[in-house]
Amino acid sequence: MIVKVAVPGPFLFPLDYRFDLSEGALPVVGGRVWVPFRNKQQVGLVMGLAEESDYQSDKLKSVLAVIDEEALFTQAHLEFLSWSAHYYHEPIGEVMQAALPKKLRAGEAVNITGLPVWELSEKGLEIQADAIPKNAKHQLALLTHLKSVGMAQSASQLSCVLESWRPSLKKFMDLGWIKESRGLCLPEMAYAAKPEHELNADQQQAVDAVAALPVQSFQAFLLEGVTGSGKTEVYLGMIDAVLKRGKQALVLVPEIGLTPQMVSRFTAYLQQPVAALHSGLNDAERLCAWQLVRTGQVKVLLGTRSAIFAPFADLGICIIDEEHDLSFKQQEGFRYSARDLLIRRAFDSKVPVVLGSATPSLESLHNVEIGRYHHLQLHQRAANAQLPSIKLLDVRGEKIQEGVSRPLRTAMQQHLQKQGQVLLFLNRRGFAPVLMCHQCGWQAQCPSCDANMTFHQSGTVHGHLRCHHCGYQCAAPKACPSCQSEEFVKVGQGTERLTETIQEWFPEQKVVRIDRDTTRQKGKMAELTEQARSGEADILIGTQMLAKGHHFPNVTLVALLDIDQGLFGVDFRASERMAQLVLQVAGRAGRAEKAGEVLIQTHHPDHPLLITLIKEGYGAFAEKALLERQQARLPPFRYQIMIRAEAMQPQDGLRFLSELKHALLAQAQLAQTKSGGSSAEVRDLDVWGPVSAPMERRQGRYRYQLLLQSAQRSDLHAVLGQVEPHIYKSPLSRKVRWSIDVDPQEMF
Ligand code: ADP
Ligand code: ZN
Ligand code: ZN
Repeated sequence: MIVKVAVPGPFLFPLDYRFDLSEGALPVVGGRVWVPFRNKQQVGLVMGLAEESDYQSDKLKSVLAVIDEEALFTQAHLEFLSWSAHYYHEPIGEVMQAALPKKLRAGEAVNITGLPVWELSEKGLEIQADAIPKNAKHQLALLTHLKSVGMAQSASQLSCVLESWRPSLKKFMDLGWIKESRGLCLPEMAYAAKPEHELNADQQQAVDAVAALPVQSFQAFLLEGVTGSGKTEVYLGMIDAVLKRGKQALVLVPEIGLTPQMVSRFTAYLQQPVAALHSGLNDAERLCAWQLVRTGQVKVLLGTRSAIFAPFADLGICIIDEEHDLSFKQQEGFRYSARDLLIRRAFDSKVPVVLGSATPSLESLHNVEIGRYHHLQLHQRAANAQLPSIKLLDVRGEKIQEGVSRPLRTAMQQHLQKQGQVLLFLNRRGFAPVLMCHQCGWQAQCPSCDANMTFHQSGTVHGHLRCHHCGYQCAAPKACPSCQSEEFVKVGQGTERLTETIQEWFPEQKVVRIDRDTTRQKGKMAELTEQARSGEADILIGTQMLAKGHHFPNVTLVALLDIDQGLFGVDFRASERMAQLVLQVAGRAGRAEKAGEVLIQTHHPDHPLLITLIKEGYGAFAEKALLERQQARLPPFRYQIMIRAEAMQPQDGLRFLSELKHALLAQAQLAQTKSGGSSAEVRDLDVWGPVSAPMERRQGRYRYQLLLQSAQRSDLHAVLGQVEPHIYKSPLSRKVRWSIDVDPQEMF
């Protein structure tokens, strides 16, 4: 027998291996095998079986061992994976890698022996709260929780309800207060109470629209509702209905939207366990969640991007929250869009798919316009909260100190006086984006990128420099390398500097900075957002991280300090992203009873985008933006594929792409002449480039790109598909790192 096996490597199709029937039971399709590969053993996934091979079968190598007796993936799921590989022009083995948890990629058994669970020992049960040091609130929380649930808890369960519990757990273990055992993944557990309120009319209508679909039918819905309008509640209502029919739900959320609070909110509402898949889990926890969903033991999976590949026993609905969010697009390696794959997956599974957002992508709005998606709208904020008023702060000619204008400083004072929280948004971390010599103008640049190094102060005397593009770091120079002067100017503001300034101005207030630097440590994000949520922090300063999903009930003033750069981006999606960001950040204001105010500092108060967005709202903005896209013949009216190449020698990348361009154009031409120019067969294809990437050199490599565009998605894929095998064979491909990006979201 011939076994078709997906193995990691540059192969678009599964590889053929022999299997001798005398050696035991035949491998199952959808299960794993060990195969020899380039003098090594590799885990591969069986994609199919055949009697014969296109290759000489005596040259084929044999399967070494069968790992799974039962299939991990159904035939339908394998087809979904193959389709994904085909659509993204990605080697099938790489897609398989993305679909398997790490432990399974390494060949471990799928049976889970149980994860560690912890409960109070006899000694621990006798410990009273007053035995815990006063300021050790995490320890107290852990003790109280374990006492109140009265049963062993797994890491995921603890993470649902507690912040940074691991250090406390270790401490209690050392004291002998806690005992560890191997438990089932899902011990019985008491769930927090289900919220009492009923859905409002808009929400109910949305839930009903999905429930009204005939079973076994696909339909896409765009759920559009301003921040705080109760979209999450709508998802929960929809999932509830699906669970009642015994089916499962897949919910995708952006990377930073998946908090323990979200998991416990789902658990409480649905009154059953919810599995989570995200980057914060260890490998055992990931495998556990994956396996529970696959076997149908858990009905709901909340996950980030890669959860799109998780197998389900009986999927009933697909949901994606904040569908416009860029984190759903993988930007390296296998460059898939989890949103687009989710739609395909729902289509294959004949189930509804719901895309939710306060600021839908232009792609999705376009799909509504052409009737492909149903539009569901939530018009108001739920729970009596009002939408904040948004004002432009014209800072032309204003006195600006450390990036903060005088009127903004006054507004901050007013809100703080009224016990409101203030959130300052600045999308640049570090202390200052440029370190410059005061005498000669020398600037600190990354040795391997065309970029300035960012100056960071934290924890050092002289500070250090970091390249935000390649990660290179070094100490800041004491003297200028060019003129030996010791006088430097730090140009521009980052969140680190802003925090220092604001703390100086408001010494009485607690200032909390939330960005990639302050949240690097595990558990730090949860700790800081908890300070923000509880009202312990008075002033919040942050980047994008702070902009999304969080519910900070006390924030009444939100200010965007520097958005002017975003108004003039080179990427044609810059204005869409800017609009989404502005409204998402603004959405953090006034989420509870207190009214919110949003101030946007700008030197361009007449900018048409800003005016439309603020005066008429996102819908009006999107309409205009779509019209512009149509006139400029850009997505979503046309389809794109970006091919990138980078090499140590600039001419290698350029030549690689030029050769590819010729091959593509020749192929398009060929298709045209073959069909005698009959219009149905003509390959509509524009090829632009090669041009250098906006940042030409990065990590020492010179980067170029080639953009393919067509009104016909099938044309684009057909032409590329025919040329593709030659790319793999090109001698230049050894010197060049290249990638294919289907439906690219960023033009760098
Ligand atoms: P979104 O996901 O659109 O940002 P949420 O679903 O998080 O909004 O809802 C915002 C707040 O309003 C939450 O605190 C939620 O509990 C509350 N809420 C939602 N729907 C209702 C409702 N029908 N009645 C009362 N409160 C609601
Ligand atoms: Zn100098
Ligand atoms: Zn760099």
